[in-house]
Amino acid sequence: MKYQSTRGHEMPQSFSEILLGGLAPDGGLFMPARYPQVTADELESWRALSYADLAFEVLSRFCDDIPAEDLRALTRKTYTPAVYCNARTGDNTADITPLRKLGEEGGAPLYLLGLSNGPTLAFKDMAMQLLGNLFEYALAREGQELNILGATSGDTGSAAEYAMRGKRGIRVFMLSPHLKMSAFQTAQMFSLQDPNIFNLAVEGVFDDCQDIVKAVSSDLEFKARQKIGTVNSINWARVVAQVVYYFKGWLLATDPANGGAGRGGRVSFCVPSGNFGNVCAGHIARMMGLPIDKLVVATNENDVLDEFFRTGVYRVRKSAETYHTSSPSMDISKASNFERFIFDLLAHDAGKLAQLFRDVDAKGGFDLRGTPEFDRIREFGFVSGRSTHSDRIATIRDLSSRYGVTIDTHTADGVKVAREYLEPGTPMVVLETALPAKFADTIREALGHEPERPASFEGIESLPQRFEVVHADVQQIKDFIVRHTGL
Ligand SMILES: *Cc1c(COP(=O)(O)O)cnc(C)c1O
Repeated sequence: MKYQSTRGHEMPQSFSEILLGGLAPDGGLFMPARYPQVTADELESWRALSYADLAFEVLSRFCDDIPAEDLRALTRKTYTPAVYCNARTGDNTADITPLRKLGEEGGAPLYLLGLSNGPTLAFKDMAMQLLGNLFEYALAREGQELNILGATSGDTGSAAEYAMRGKRGIRVFMLSPHLKMSAFQTAQMFSLQDPNIFNLAVEGVFDDCQDIVKAVSSDLEFKARQKIGTVNSINWARVVAQVVYYFKGWLLATDPANGGAGRGGRVSFCVPSGNFGNVCAGHIARMMGLPIDKLVVATNENDVLDEFFRTGVYRVRKSAETYHTSSPSMDISKASNFERFIFDLLAHDAGKLAQLFRDVDAKGGFDLRGTPEFDRIREFGFVSGRSTHSDRIATIRDLSSRYGVTIDTHTADGVKVAREYLEPGTPMVVLETALPAKFADTIREALGHEPERPASFEGIESLPQRFEVVHADVQQIKDFIVRHTGL
């Protein structure tokens, strides 16, 4: 399997070569030259597999330069009930991604696919835990080390730290805005005592943190000498690891043992979206031949993607027009993985794609209204909708009273929009992207009581914290890195 850039750079690379990198040399994103196809017979033969072995089957089709026995060992080490279920229930035998039926609405079975049972209670653990093990494996093979530099407003940073803690050859330098994260998020990150994890609380806002990461990364000499890498959402390995749970969700929702349609049954997925990484994985699963009917993109008030899928107009917003909402992990106005879908929509015409994204930089967007490409969007199964704070509150209340289930604010955006696309007889699977414990303020507002908190998180706010407060100053942060890498 060779990878190419969405902007046309001619230098095919292998999975291992792009694993530790970010953007392609021409500024594009890496994509496989073609999508491996999965037949209906193969799908049926996967029904009995554990999540770890299903992950092996899917991933092995994308990374054929990792020996099969090594890849299988990596997926088995990553996808264990101890890592993915302890946080919530302490049940070491439970499914990695349990499918929970809410009920029948308008003749459609409505499900939640639980992706938030990992160490940081959000779906990012699904891919990040694998990434930690893949990095450690690849670095050991090459006798290398890696210093991950990142900026976080909460979820990504903690998922990365919990995935990389204690890993040989890896250090994490994570910038977060000082005193701007929730007490729970702060405690989750800052209570880690592992010597390879460095929390830097920057006196500023999230954008300042992001700007510092960009400034450090654009100093190529520093970046090479300090072996700086990233784990941001354009990382191909993260996207491909997320493909696996679409297969799992389909297998569970069509399982004849639970009244599902069995072979060939079609299933729709609704995905609370920000950077378009999660739903891009669903698109890839569909391109591999998984019988997905609709891919429903759910946004919050930051509705750039909803606008595009409804109208064909892609118009990115400035930071000042990006709202701070009660589903904060979706407060994004420039979805970094969106280019991957556009590449397929344009039938891999890299020249045309490069022009469109030059228009994004120069004019703030592009317009596909009235073009043949716009007509093709529906062929890819995409539809969309948006949800607001009052929708979230109403949906959280409704699911609590109707089904006795408490969902988080992002998942609530998903359920709200999924209900606009139900079709009799077609299961609708909403991806649960976080647990309500992470967003206690909004749960209190909706339900008048605290969300349930997994036992292992009781009292984390009072654990000792390890972090350093720094100025929003590039040189100061470079000095900190040099002091701690010794490079
Ligand atoms: C990151 C995140 C999202 C958005 O996922 P994308 O892959 O960026 O589209 C949605 N919900 C939660 C809870 C998240 O952490």
